Amino acid sequence: MSKIFAVANQKGGVGKTTTCVNLSASLVANKRRVLLIDLDPQGNATMGSGVDKSDLQLSSYDVLASLLPPRKAIVPTASGYDLMPANIDLTAAEVELLEMDGRESRLRQALAEISDDYDYIIIDCPPSLNMLTVNALCAAGGVLIPMQCEYYALEGLSALIDTITQIQRAANPDLKIEGILRTMYDPRNSLTGDVSDQLNEYFGDRLYRTCIPRNVRLAEAPSFGKPALDYDRSSKGAIAYLALAGEITRRESAAKQNHHSHDNHN
Ligand code: ADP
Ligand code: MG
Repeated sequence: MSKIFAVANQKGGVGKTTTCVNLSASLVANKRRVLLIDLDPQGNATMGSGVDKSDLQLSSYDVLASLLPPRKAIVPTASGYDLMPANIDLTAAEVELLEMDGRESRLRQALAEISDDYDYIIIDCPPSLNMLTVNALCAAGGVLIPMQCEYYALEGLSALIDTITQIQRAANPDLKIEGILRTMYDPRNSLTGDVSDQLNEYFGDRLYRTCIPRNVRLAEAPSFGKPALDYDRSSKGAIAYLALAGEITRRESAAKQNHHSHDNHN
């Protein structure tokens, strides 16, 4: 069974796509089988993975709108993860979905048949709490929330957490907040420290220890259609995302061990 993470924050420009692409590449470097699903009509994760969004045969649109078997839309990338690409066609799905039965769970339904193909499925969400994001949250086991440590960032977080709570109640009781990721992190900024402290207080061990620094290589790599790891593997950005992948896979092993020792005691 794959672990499915929705990377979500309705605020734009917080590092969702950068996190999806670089975390996918870093999990591959940790020998995990990874699928990245682009669920944003802007197609940034698609382009950032070296796939031309204007030249797609099939995309996540077809999977959502016509229940195309997902394997038909999935393409390999040069970085070793698979990609279900997206482009502007997906804006139509957002509207079409509103008319459909089981509209929240179309993605969940589609992914059921590939859940043994991957260790991790990472979903890049659009910058809004629309039907596409709702589909990602219904399909996911965990939400990874990238955020910049700014004052208003915390305000935006409460709307996202309300949505997560609603989805837990209505459609996906197993959904968890997998982790909060501090992006574009600048420890010299004093506000960053304050917001960081608040996050720590509120989320405790759900706050990733790894912080992603502001790093120009992370911003440059997408124009080459590559994760930072394949563009400049010694960059601070690439190394930070490797550390995040390490933190995530260690949590996974810790959870497994807990599970086993629990079994032994019963
Ligand atoms: P989102 O998907 O949440 O809209 P993006 O990942 O596209 O956000 O990031 C927004 C912009 O910031 C992009 O131009 C990206 O290259 C840049 N960026 C993201 N993370 C970093 C970082 N850690 N350091 C420098 N630039 C970054
Ligand atoms: Mg994005």
